[in-house]
Amino acid sequence: MSESIVPPEVRPKPAVPAKPPHVAAPSPTAPHGPSGLGGGVGVDRVPGLGHSGGGSTLLGYIGIDTIIEQMRKKTMKAGFDFNIMIVGHSGLGKSTLVNTLFKSQVSRWSSGWGGEHKIPKTVEIKAVSHVIEEGGVKMKLTVIDTPGFGDQINNENCWDPISKYINEQYEKFLKEEVNIARKKRIPDTRVHCCLYFISPTGHSLRQLDIEFMKHLSRVVNIIPVIAKSDTMTPDEKNEFKHRVRKELETYGIEYYPQNEFDDDMEDKNENDKIREAMPFAVVGSDKEFQVNSKRVLGRKTAWGVVEVENPNHCEFALLRDFLIRSHLQDLKEVTHNIHYETYRARRLNDNGDV
Ligand code: GDP
Ligand code: MG
Repeated sequence: MSESIVPPEVRPKPAVPAKPPHVAAPSPTAPHGPSGLGGGVGVDRVPGLGHSGGGSTLLGYIGIDTIIEQMRKKTMKAGFDFNIMIVGHSGLGKSTLVNTLFKSQVSRWSSGWGGEHKIPKTVEIKAVSHVIEEGGVKMKLTVIDTPGFGDQINNENCWDPISKYINEQYEKFLKEEVNIARKKRIPDTRVHCCLYFISPTGHSLRQLDIEFMKHLSRVVNIIPVIAKSDTMTPDEKNEFKHRVRKELETYGIEYYPQNEFDDDMEDKNENDKIREAMPFAVVGSDKEFQVNSKRVLGRKTAWGVVEVENPNHCEFALLRDFLIRSHLQDLKEVTHNIHYETYRARRLNDNGDV
């Protein structure tokens, strides 16, 4: 027979797991180890590690689970970067939606800006950063606006400046990474997510939408959304969503969360549900109204208030939960592990000289 294999240790969960014993105030009644547990079934002493005497620490809590708390503290101190790009032709409510998402004026190029709304001659790229703090966690949010996209008569290759910007941020990161004297923490300006605004035409995607998403989905996480969905009836909206999904599939456009990057079955099931509900049909507003004695963000119409966060009115809440509450970290990871990695490998292959 081969040597005996030591099975992984099974340690019982402590009855009161909060702190390692030496931190807790001494209590006269504190028992040594997990007493009263019926002889510690499944708990073995590790040979060679046992002390004589008390020995109770070996039977008890190690504290591996405090890693989560340690990570939390570090993350809270360091804060994190999140960079979101908004693309779509002017007037689709991009600035309004981002302000709605982050409940503050994080995007400054709303249509009211500077009086008359001037359409730039080419696609401009404007990044504005804000530090948002909630529950002691600091997020440096950068909103990258792309005014002028799709506004020209000839929109040929109008995604070039956008793709150039995205690649430039990868290049910046790569340069920092290969530096001999590296920064302890490399500032992350890479675009983690690109919200692509689809016009609520009720027809189909425009050629430009298809071209843009086709080109850019290889380098960045694209999340398509249907803008100003309050302009469609529920039936029209569902039909349009269905058609857009079909078209995206026909043209082989991989939007986020991409099938191929699902981690496991649980992840796949969760993401399948999201993919089936996409593209989210959203409504944005930064104005509050009183509805049933509650203040809500909404758009007041002659026949009532469209409540932005009411799931019966639009899918803003779904988008917000998905983007911020469930997938923010994953967006960052896919950016780093897939998109940036692809860029990096290609760049180092082309010429090792960065
Ligand atoms: P941007 O050019 O894409 O940044 O669009 P803006 O956010 O500046 O919005 C353009 C106009 O559309 C403004 O008058 C907004 O009040 C309005 N708007 C924004 N979001 C919505 C929406 O969800 N539904 C409707 N009906 N109008 C919207
Ligand atoms: Mg704008």
